[in-house]
Amino acid sequence: MTRRSLFIFAIAACVFGLLPLPAYWVTLGNYIGLYAIVALGLVLLTGVGGLTSFGQAAFVGLGAYATAYLSTSAGLSPWLGLVAGLVITAISALFIGAIMLRLSGHYLPLGTIAWGLSLYYLFGNMESLGKHDGIAGIPPLTLFGLDLGSGKSMYFLIWLVLLVAVVLLRNLLNSRSGRAIRALKGGGVMAEAMGVNTAAMKIRIFVIAALLACVSGWLYAHLQRAVNPSPFGLNAGIEYLFMAVIGGAGYLWGAILGAAVLTILKDQLQSYLPALLGSNGNFEIIVFGVLMVILLQHARNGIWPFIAARLPQHRDAVAPDTAAQLAQRAKAVAGYPLLVIDKVRKQFGGLVAVNDMSFTVHGGEIVGLIGPNGAGKSTMFNLVTGVLPATGGEVRLRQGEELVRIDSLPSRRIVQLGVGRTFQHVHLLPEMTVLENVAIGAHLRARKGVLASAVGLDRAEEEALLFEARRQLERVGLGELLYEQAGNLALGQQRILEIARALCADPTLLLLDEPAAGLRYKEKQALADLLNKLKGEGMSILLVEHDMDFVMNLTDRLIVMEFGTKIAEGNPAQVQQDPAVLEAYLGGLD
Ligand code: ADP
Ligand code: MG
Repeated sequence: MTRRSLFIFAIAACVFGLLPLPAYWVTLGNYIGLYAIVALGLVLLTGVGGLTSFGQAAFVGLGAYATAYLSTSAGLSPWLGLVAGLVITAISALFIGAIMLRLSGHYLPLGTIAWGLSLYYLFGNMESLGKHDGIAGIPPLTLFGLDLGSGKSMYFLIWLVLLVAVVLLRNLLNSRSGRAIRALKGGGVMAEAMGVNTAAMKIRIFVIAALLACVSGWLYAHLQRAVNPSPFGLNAGIEYLFMAVIGGAGYLWGAILGAAVLTILKDQLQSYLPALLGSNGNFEIIVFGVLMVILLQHARNGIWPFIAARLPQHRDAVAPDTAAQLAQRAKAVAGYPLLVIDKVRKQFGGLVAVNDMSFTVHGGEIVGLIGPNGAGKSTMFNLVTGVLPATGGEVRLRQGEELVRIDSLPSRRIVQLGVGRTFQHVHLLPEMTVLENVAIGAHLRARKGVLASAVGLDRAEEEALLFEARRQLERVGLGELLYEQAGNLALGQQRILEIARALCADPTLLLLDEPAAGLRYKEKQALADLLNKLKGEGMSILLVEHDMDFVMNLTDRLIVMEFGTKIAEGNPAQVQQDPAVLEAYLGGLD
C-alpha cells in the first residue's frame, strides 16, 4: 500500500462526500464505512493473524451501548461515551482473549460464537439498556462546536476514522510487530523460535480488532440516534467475517472492498429477492452463503488480489543501503564449553526418543549429530531449543562466565540467550519477501512495539532491522533475491534463507537441522563453504545431517545416535572406524 494510493483513496472519499448525491447514497456510504472499520480489525486478526472470530458484532454493540447509555441516562458527552466504550471493550477483550486465545483449531471460532451470543442476549435482557427495544434519543455528535447531526456530516467523520485506521494498520503491518503478527499463522513454532511472544501478540491483535469494532459501534449509535440488540447478533458477526473474506482477508484494502461489495449486494438483494420469491425473509444470507462457498473454492484470498495484480507493483519493505548497526553480543570463547547436554531424556508415552544423552559443544566448533532416521536427532534439537520440554536431565548454555540452565525455558527465551536455529522442514512465510522473512529473525534485537509502529515512531529501528536482514542475506549469498517472494525460492535457497534468518538473531550457537537435505552437489559445497566461513568468524554450529560426505568433511566432531542413545563420539575419522557405528549403518545410510 503506497502513500499515493492512500492519498487517492482519501480524495475519492472526499469527492464522493461533496457530490450532491441523494441521501440514499450517503447512507450507503456511511454503512460501508462503518462496516469497513470492523472488517479492518478482522483483516488484522483473521486474515493476517490467522485467528477466526465470529464475535466482532458484540464489540460493535459494546461501543454502541456504552455511548447510548451514558449520553442518554447519564447525560454525558458522546466523547466520554467513546472513551468509556473503548475502556470497557479493551477490558472485555483482554479478559475474553486471555481465556479464548488458548483455544486452538475449531475451538476458537466456536468460543467467539458463544460469547457473541451471550453479549447479544445481555443487551436484550438488561432493564437499563431498554431490553429488546433498546435505547432511543441518543444525541448527535458535535465536534469543535460543529453539529454532526446530518448523515452527510457523519459521512466525513466515518470515512476520516476509516482512513486513520487504515494508515495506522498499514504502519503496524510494515513493522517488526507486523512481521511477528504475520508469523502467527501456521502454529507459531517458528515465531516463538524467533523470539515472538505469540500468546501476547494474539491478545494484542484481538484487542485492536475489538477496539476498531467499538469505534464503529460508537459512530453507528450517533448516526442512528437509537440502538437495539439486533445489529449486534451472531448474524452480523458472520457478515463481518464474510466482508473480510470476500474482499480479501489478508489485505487492508480487502476490508473496504468487502464491506462495499457486501453492503451494496445486500441492499440490492433485499429489494429484489422478496419480490422474486414472493415473501419476506433474510434470503440474502442464503445468497451470501452460496457466494462464500464459490469464493472459497475459486479465490480463497478474496477479490482484492485480482485488482492488485492489475495495479503497479510496489514494495512495502525496502532495505536501506546503510543504517545504524544493531547491538551485537560477544562471540563464544573458542574451546570453552558453550552448550552442555547432561543426561537429557525425552519420552513420548512408552517411546524413549532421547535416552539420557550427554555431549558438549565448544566455542568455535562444528559438531555433527548423526544417526539413522528416527534416532532422535530432531527431538534432541527440540529439547535444546525449548520446543519440547525434557522428561529429565539438564541443558546448559554459556552466558559470560557461567553455564545457565535453559531446559525449562520457552523457545523465545532460548533464542534471546543466543541459540539460533533452522528447521528440518522449512518454516517460512511464502508470501512475504525474502528480506522480510529474514528480518523476523532479528525480532529480539529491537524494542518498538505495536503502538510505536502504528504511529510511525519505529522508522530508524525498522531501517536498522531491514539493513541487518540484508547484511545477513548478503553474507549467506542470497543478496540478489531480497525482494523475491520466499515461496518462489528453490528448497536449497529456502534452507539458506533460514540460516540467514537464524543469523539475524546474532547467535553464538547455530542449530541446523538437515541443512543439506534437498540441495544439489554445488549447493552443498556452497553451504559447506558458508558454514566454514561462519566458523572462521567465531560461530559455533551443531548440525544434524544425513549426508555422510558433507558431514565428514565439515565437522570437527561427531556424535552418533541410535534409538535415542549415543553410540559413538569422536572426530570424523575415528567415528568412521567405530564398529558400533558401522553396525548401526550396516545396509547403508538412508
Ligand atoms: P530423527 O530426527 O533422528 O529422524 P526424531 O527425533 O524425529 O528422529 O524421532 C525420534 C523418535 O521419536 C521417532 O521414533 C519418532 O517417531 C518419535 N517422535 C518424534 N516426535 C514425536 C512426537 N511429537 N510424539 C511422539 N513420538 C515422536
Ligand atoms: Mg529429524
